[in-house]
Amino acid sequence: MPLIPKSHPRIKSLLIREKLVKGFDNGLVAKEGLLAQGRGEAFDYLLGEKTGRAAMNAIKAAAAQLLLAKTPVISVNGNIAALCPRQIVRLSKQVKAKLEVNLFYADEKRKRAIIRILKKNGANKILGSSASSSRELSGIDSARRIVDKDGIFVADVVVVPLEDGDRTMALRNAGKTVITFDLNPLSRTSHTADITIVDNVTRSIDLLISDCGKLSEKTQKDLQKIVDNFDNRKNLRDNVMQIKNNLTRRAKIA
Ligand code: ATP
Ligand code: MG
Repeated sequence: MPLIPKSHPRIKSLLIREKLVKGFDNGLVAKEGLLAQGRGEAFDYLLGEKTGRAAMNAIKAAAAQLLLAKTPVISVNGNIAALCPRQIVRLSKQVKAKLEVNLFYADEKRKRAIIRILKKNGANKILGSSASSSRELSGIDSARRIVDKDGIFVADVVVVPLEDGDRTMALRNAGKTVITFDLNPLSRTSHTADITIVDNVTRSIDLLISDCGKLSEKTQKDLQKIVDNFDNRKNLRDNVMQIKNNLTRRAKIA
């Protein structure tokens, strides 16, 4: 693979892309995952490739929601496993959330590769791999209706990074509180989730971990107040405004 010079103006974006390509070569990432990455990159460009104020607010609300959760689960797909396996494991330990591998394009080999990388990064137990533990969510056709009876099936709060709209809706219909990372503030997932972090997961996952640490001393009442004060619709509008303002600025100098 050609080496990317450190001085390249788009080094960060290129390194992320390389992780996905490597993940694809290693059997972690699906072809469709590469397309999702491309879609995400386009929105990241429009957002200015930085974590904005709206995303910061969503991260804080997500941290509070995770600390309040009784049975939280983090759903892991190929893109997340390729992009930030170490941080996902760290977050799961910090908020005592279970990890569940859940794939839109079900593939046992890919599932095993994802489990392997999570274990390599310190995960002890990963749900979603035993056929005898599988249960079905209703109202969804894809393989992702299959969830683990000890994981998402009984979870109160589910973190689903880079998720598809149908599945987010199925999780909501099943009564779950849904937290997602999605660079596209217009996607169905963004609009269906309870808390949408509109940011590149590679930037915001560390901020979420740090906020979980900062808020861990707060009372349940204070945490609930943070969650109650968060309005996902408004937050999405703020993100769209961030794109609009960026474009307005660029329209003046382009
Ligand atoms: P939806 O089904 O919600 O309408 P979609 O069909 O456009 O959205 P999916 O492939 O189902 O997209 O979901 C993947 C989502 O993940 C996309 O919205 C994409 O912008 C987002 N995404 C891709 N890479 C990243 C990343 N690194 N960080 C955050 N979000 C990302
Ligand atoms: Mg989709």
